[in-house]
Order: sequence, then C-alpha cells, then structure tokens
Amino acid sequence: MIVKNVALLGLLGAVSAQSASVTDMASAAQSTDAATECKPYSAKIVNDIKDQFPTIWQPATIVDGDTAAQQKYDEIKQIIPSSIKPKGTHSGDFSQTTPTYDKSDPDCWYTFNKCTQPKIEGLGEDLSKLPEPNTWGLGFDDGPNCSHNTFYNFLSDNDLTATMFYIGSNVMNWPYQAQRGVEDGHQICLHTWSHHYMTSFDDEGAFAELYYPIKAIKAITGVTPTCWRPPFGDVDDRIRIIAEGLGLRTAVWEYDTNDWKMSSGTSKDQVKQNYEKVINDAKGGKFDTAGTIVLTHEITGDTMDMFMEMYPEIKENFDYIVPFYAATNTTNLYVETGDDVKKGQTFAEYVKDVYNGTSVEAATSTNTNDHPDPTMTGTAGPLATVANPTVASIEGAAASDVTNSDDGDSAAFSISGTSSLLSVAALMVSTTFVALSL
Ligand SMILES: [Zn+2]
Repeated sequence: MIVKNVALLGLLGAVSAQSASVTDMASAAQSTDAATECKPYSAKIVNDIKDQFPTIWQPATIVDGDTAAQQKYDEIKQIIPSSIKPKGTHSGDFSQTTPTYDKSDPDCWYTFNKCTQPKIEGLGEDLSKLPEPNTWGLGFDDGPNCSHNTFYNFLSDNDLTATMFYIGSNVMNWPYQAQRGVEDGHQICLHTWSHHYMTSFDDEGAFAELYYPIKAIKAITGVTPTCWRPPFGDVDDRIRIIAEGLGLRTAVWEYDTNDWKMSSGTSKDQVKQNYEKVINDAKGGKFDTAGTIVLTHEITGDTMDMFMEMYPEIKENFDYIVPFYAATNTTNLYVETGDDVKKGQTFAEYVKDVYNGTSVEAATSTNTNDHPDPTMTGTAGPLATVANPTVASIEGAAASDVTNSDDGDSAAFSISGTSSLLSVAALMVSTTFVALSL
C-alpha cells in the first residue's frame, strides 16, 4: 500500500511538471523535441467546454441537450436527398456497397470514381486542381500533430503558408498546436471529428462529424472555418450537401503521395517516387495551363520530414507554392471578418507579397469564390520523428474493395422535382458564409 502511494505521488509529480511547462501556445511552440512536444497537457480552454462535445476519436452524434446543433441539423436535413443512402462501414469496408452501386456513379462518390462535379444542381465543384499555371497547392491533412514545431518552423522560415485540415479530436487534444496554426497564418479547414469514412454515416452522424470540429476550432482558435476535406476523400452528394449547409467548401486532390502509408509499411522510397511523379509531370509541362493539388499530411514525423526533404525539388519545378485560398482568389478565410482575423488574398496579391512581385502577370484566374482554402510554412533543425499514435492508428484503416463494378442493379438517383432543387439552392445561399450560432 505504501509502495503504491509513493508511486502515485511520483506520477502526480510528473504530471504536474508537464503541466507547468506547457501553459499556452507560446510555451507549446518552444520545444522541437518530439517526445517533449507530445507530452499530454491540461488546457483550461478545453476543460471548460469538453462536455459540450462528443467523445474524441469516436463517431460523432449530436450531444444530448445541444439545442443549437439540433436546430442547425433540423434546418439542413430538409435539403438532404433521401435517395442517397449511407455506404459501407466507418472503417471503409464497401464490399456490401460497390457490387450493387450504379457504375454511372449517380451520387458523385469520389471514392468510387474520383467524381468532383456533383450531380445535384446547386452544389459547387470540389476543389481538386487550381486555376493558376505551374502552381502547387499546399495543404496538409490530419493535424494538428503534437510534434509539428520543427515542421511549422520550416514552413515559416521558407515563407510558406498552407491550408491545414485539422481533425476535431486532435484540436481538442492539442489546442495550443491548433492555435499555432492560426498564429502562423495558415488557413485552417477541418477534416471531421473522428476521421472515419463520411459516406458511412447517417445524416445526423455526418452532420455531427462536421459541426463539432467547426465548433472546436472556433472555441479554441477564434475562427470559423469555411472549408473541409473528407478523410480518404470519401464524399458523395449527400455529404456535400450537409457540408454546404454548414458553409463548408469541399476540397479533395489530384495527386496522392500516399505519405501516410509510411506508418503501415510503405517505403520512404515509394513515397518519394510518388512526389517525383508530380515533379516530373511539372517538368513535362502538364501544369502549363493549370496548377494542381497534391495530398500530403502532417500525420507523422515521417510525413513532415518527407515534405521538407522534397521541398527544394518542388520549389525548383513549380513557379508558385501557395495555399489554396490564394490560388482561388479567396479573400475571406473565415466567417469572421474583423480586423484581428487573417484575411485571404488574391493570387496576384499573394505572389506580390511572397515572391516579390515576380510574374504577377501570370495570374489568370477570375475565380471570385468566397470560400477559403489551406496553406503552409518551414525551418531547419532537428526533424520531428514521433508520430501521433492515435491518429496514425486510425489513418491506417484502409478502404477495402472499392472498385468499379458493372454487375448488379443500379441504384437510381434522382431528386424529387424542380421545387426541391430550388429549395436546395435557396437554403445553400442562406446558410453558406453565415456565422453559426456556436
Ligand atoms: Zn486524413
């Protein structure tokens, strides 16, 4: 008994020492030692609100008694097409879905056939490429990673701003790391609450998976995101319409580095080859008329190290490396527009600031879309080497049996009449870009 008490006192002492060392964003940003960075800490800003949120890393539902969320869901569910049903499992097993799914892809299911142009009228096209030539759209998924200080230093040191797709559960676990993302000028978007396959959720679950990360990011960083990326790219028109109802633009990608698979056996050389494919396409002139979006992650030390290693080659072969918002001339990054909130920039403005005005004439886009998009940064020093184990284990869940199938019946999709289409469009206009009551 005495031994146990001594051990307990020692444990309490250790916890107390950790808490004393990390008390805010600045103290959390000081260490570049991954083991130190990833010591859990207790933050009042999270403790005060966590009972208003679903359990972290668990599939979300509307929290009991959350009348604001329920009201928003009741509003949005009026425009959710009942003809599109949930698909597969939360872990990405679509083996019961694909055999009977209409190969014409009526739901615009990205997982099925990389569809980015929704079949429902009034829904905007997913962002997967960029209008500016020879431009690399810089975005990182699955943050905030507890060990990202070296990486974020690198981005800053290289004048890189990125679009960061944060997971709600990570934001709650690592609030000061999330605050740093905003402080560094990155564009913060969201990547769901628990990082599961979104088309597997029922309507309310899909709503909650998007609603609560918005609420967490707002509570912890002060800004309300206006963009998201589906984990594994798993999105269809039902999910897109829920996202649009929450004022979120959907972003996917054109190239996938598969960098996150390094934590489950894919070799570093293979991932490097995936990067080289994009770079070789740039050398071959593929992006002479439009830029591209490449999927990269801050999920582990290895994925962050890989980007830093590849950056010189990317820089040499692309004219511009920009956050999504700049390439799409998005000037409002967040719902909030006050003087203390970072604004977006047009491509010409961004290039003038970061590239000293070179080749501003290259700006060709006339896109006036208001939605924000992601960014990035950098510095030298010891590379982050510790993965975020919680995220890594979840990310490791791979989609299974997602293939084009030409057998079986087609699941015909249609929306019920013109009046429904009009109401969909009307509600989109009324809900997009309007501050949530969170
Ligand atoms: Zn992800």
